[in-house]
Amino acid sequence: MVYGECNCGVVAFEITTDIKDVYVCHCSICRKYTGAAGVAVVIAHNDAFRWRRGEDQIATWKKPDADWLSAFCRTCGSALPGANDEERMFVPAGLITEGGERLRVAHHIWVGSKAAWDEIGDDGKQDMEAFGG
Ligand SMILES: [Zn+2]
Ligand SMILES: [Zn+2]
Repeated sequence: MVYGECNCGVVAFEITTDIKDVYVCHCSICRKYTGAAGVAVVIAHNDAFRWRRGEDQIATWKKPDADWLSAFCRTCGSALPGANDEERMFVPAGLITEGGERLRVAHHIWVGSKAAWDEIGDDGKQDMEAFGG
């Protein structure tokens, strides 16, 4: 089991499957979303993801000209899990509080868009654009 929550604890979730891969997106949208080098996420199938509390406290924003939706806590502004597609959730890895001991960075995407000061220092596979790009 993997557990996670936002900074204020209003929103919490759990993942029931064993996950180990972290994906880091360095695109300009994700950089603005976090204010950092990008966003690190784990991907969980909908069947394996469950909100523990606070689902009604999630705000979302869709970028008008892109297929990109951000989710964040109404109270503290923390990035929150959101739908990756119809079957899977993306879950910001930094929210994980318990059960993440085996996580490692497996894949970097949109490396071609990374910030000048962003130096990738792990063994994760690097794609200049999205997966397979
Ligand atoms: Zn919060
Ligand atoms: Zn991105």
